[in-house]
Amino acid sequence: MVKNEQVYTTLNNGVQMPALGLGVFQSSPEQTVGAVESAIAQGYRLIDTAASYFNERQVGEGMRRSGIARADVFLETKIWINDYGYHAALHAFDKSAGKLGVDRLDLLLLHQPLPNRFDLALDAYRALEKLLADGKVRAIGVSNFMPEHLQRLLAETSVVPAVNQIEVHPFFQQTALQRLHAERGILTQAWSPIGGITSYRGGEKRTFDDPILMEIARQHGKSAAQVMLRWHLQEGRSAIPKSTKPARIAENFEVFDFELSGDQIAAIDALDTRVRGGPDPASITLETYGKEIPEA
Ligand code: NDP
Repeated sequence: MVKNEQVYTTLNNGVQMPALGLGVFQSSPEQTVGAVESAIAQGYRLIDTAASYFNERQVGEGMRRSGIARADVFLETKIWINDYGYHAALHAFDKSAGKLGVDRLDLLLLHQPLPNRFDLALDAYRALEKLLADGKVRAIGVSNFMPEHLQRLLAETSVVPAVNQIEVHPFFQQTALQRLHAERGILTQAWSPIGGITSYRGGEKRTFDDPILMEIARQHGKSAAQVMLRWHLQEGRSAIPKSTKPARIAENFEVFDFELSGDQIAAIDALDTRVRGGPDPASITLETYGKEIPEA
């Protein structure tokens, strides 16, 4: 049996990032401290949060309670659209770092492309470039950027994002966008990596019940969730599954001790429906999704 050991990936600026991490979207403040503590105890070294999840304070608390050294955890957060623009985004760093209780972030992302005010997104990205130059963040990136947003960002700013965090699970794979990432040295980080969005939004078809995933899982003595996470890792993506339950947090990390075959990977690739579970990034505007992010 191979030892269950974390895999690290190297970002386009040389920074090392754990490939598998814990997500905390929809983890209530009360649940978040315990989830983070439990994840770190299980071996997780990457935590993904966001200003708009309103649990950054609890992520910091969980990290401190775990007793781990700050340098041993890779902390990733995201700036919400209300804090776009150059000065607002610089201040958003202070708010997030203050709530997390750290001086420096490992990875800071723009949460959404905000195409109807892309001028604000570009200015916010220029603030990320400044934070990177000043050593306040170790890497910068984006989330939910579609090819047209990425192309414009690449044309109008200097630093190629290290990461684009996008919806990827077996039912929605965004292969063209992933190809563009590969061409430009951008790491694909999968959100809803086990298809949580096909389940908690009340969809008819949940990834967890998919017969092909269940059969592959049976062949390895693993769960469908573990097979999906293994698929991301073998295809070179980062993945950040969310759970607040210690048993599932542990289960989602037991994925370094088995290998999917080429045929199994191909069978999972073939599950793509090309239908997204989450909202179209273009529909996320200040008018529809705006919310104030409180001070630290
Ligand atoms: P996931 O694919 O991680 O699925 C999470 C859901 O599945 C939860 O309902 C969880 O419930 C359940 N679950 C977790 N583990 C298992 C398991 N082993 N077996 C069965 N069910 C399980 O979806 P998310 O949408 O939460 O995405 C993960 C992370 O990605 C988020 O937490 C966030 O950090 C990030 N994200 C980013 C977005 C963005 O716009 N950038 C958008 C959405 C997510 P329970 O907690 O009860 O175990």
